Amino acid sequence: MHFKPLKRREFIWGLGLSALSSSLLQDNLVGANNTQRSPSVLVLGAGLSGLYTALLLERAGVKVVVLEGRDRVGGRVYTLDNLPGKPEAGGQGFSERYQRLLALAASLQVPTTQASPPGRDSLLYVRSQPVVSSDWATSTANKLAETERNTLPPRLLTSYLSPDNPLPDETAWLKAEYADLDISLEQYLSAKGASPEALRLMNFNPASLFNSIEATSALWALRNNQRTKTPSKQPMRIEGGNSRLPEKMAAALKFPVQKNKTVTSIRSSGSCVEVECADGSNFQADYAVVTLPFSVLRRIKITPPLQGKQAQAVAELPYTIITRMQLAVRRPFWEEDGFPPQMWTDTRLQNIFPVTDATGTQNLFCITGGNSARQLDAMNPQMLAEFVQSKLARIRPASKGNVEVTNVVSWGRDPFARGAYAHFAPGQIRRFQGKMAQPWQRMHFAGEHTAIASAGMEGALESAERVVNEVLARIQ
Ligand SMILES: Cc1cc2nc3c(=O)[nH]c(=O)nc-3n(C[C@H](O)[C@H](O)[C@H](O)COP(=O)(O)OP(=O)(O)OC[C@H]3O[C@@H](n4cnc5c(N)ncnc54)[C@H](O)[C@@H]3O)c2cc1C
Repeated sequence: MHFKPLKRREFIWGLGLSALSSSLLQDNLVGANNTQRSPSVLVLGAGLSGLYTALLLERAGVKVVVLEGRDRVGGRVYTLDNLPGKPEAGGQGFSERYQRLLALAASLQVPTTQASPPGRDSLLYVRSQPVVSSDWATSTANKLAETERNTLPPRLLTSYLSPDNPLPDETAWLKAEYADLDISLEQYLSAKGASPEALRLMNFNPASLFNSIEATSALWALRNNQRTKTPSKQPMRIEGGNSRLPEKMAAALKFPVQKNKTVTSIRSSGSCVEVECADGSNFQADYAVVTLPFSVLRRIKITPPLQGKQAQAVAELPYTIITRMQLAVRRPFWEEDGFPPQMWTDTRLQNIFPVTDATGTQNLFCITGGNSARQLDAMNPQMLAEFVQSKLARIRPASKGNVEVTNVVSWGRDPFARGAYAHFAPGQIRRFQGKMAQPWQRMHFAGEHTAIASAGMEGALESAERVVNEVLARIQ
């Protein structure tokens, strides 16, 4: 596989392979059992950030081994290939704004194509009443304040954040002048005049970017909202599913990703870094790039221990809990009751979307987050199936006997993720930024949680570029 360097990152290639393959690298490779030479950089985690880090380091002449705990690559990018419609359980939506992702896909010959924007017409189900969007303003289920009544519940948060979002660009959230916005989102919205009912409904956030408005930093929410200010770009998708990209990235590496290697400890000494895995194997190298989510890293022994704010960030950074369920539909009940299949609800099911498979059959996908997801995660499979069916039958009586839960992906319960993505609690941006991803001994840190200007999948790739520059600067 030929991997074409991307133009905007030529400074990495510009370092020159001769410098990188100098005796420094060759001589410092440490043998795991003194019979074999180890790679110089261990990358922990084969998600987008780990794989991209490995590709960039390899292209710069560094020896790399990637250790991955699962039996697949991609991490939180996970196409459910065995389900009708091949839905995405993890990272899904991206647009033309994801320049790194698109350039990488192009260089690896992973075909991308335009995606159709998500359907806008939803049935609202609020305070146990079904309401079509056009009737919302006058519905008896609408208990919003007079100034809010015309705003649909899924749009409430944006309607409060967008008009006077002070952040001028994607990196401004880190500037000292905005630090006083690092307060609870609930406090911020209340000060803007949000009614108690608006605050309640905003906890059923359509994009599930956080667990609750109370426990999330307003500055973080404004950072996410800032991105929506730039004109919207064409939504894109990867043909055959998003997992095709990490699979191709892994295939392009010289040394195969070591799967089923669950890291249990990382030790840095004066001369090397040593990583132990649950199966008893042990790897050594000059440096390690740790891309594991902090929700997982906090359970891994690090020696010498991280210090100060960085240690606190690893221990405390909150992760958004998301659970996604595939619902097989026997008969399209929406043709019977006349409401759109897409639903926004203030129940524990939260959001339901149609997914169309290759034969044109529509099934449903339920995405729920925060406390709702936590409660569903506590149920056993049978209780969960019964709960979903009976709740849906109450929302849409025509669905009764027509729907079956065929797949559940709980990111909160996944031992390799323990959440869908990181966010910041009030005060944490001030406390942690500039500290959480700083190198510690022979360890460097990447992953979506460390990205500055971009989010999600693009953020994971952004973090890889930063960490590669850090490591290369050190090796030279
Ligand atoms: C439900 C959901 C919806 C999303 N929607 C979007 C979206 O629409 N758009 C978007 O841009 N992004 C979205 N994202 C976010 C995006 O998927 C992630 O930000 C991105 O994939 C993270 O990449 P990463 O490399 O930082 O982390 P990961 O993909 O989590 O990679 C870390 C890797 O480390 C491995 N690992 C963990 N623990 C260990 C261990 N102990 N030992 C060895 N390996 C270990 C994991 O298995 C994983 O492969 C979504 C995520 C989820 C979960």
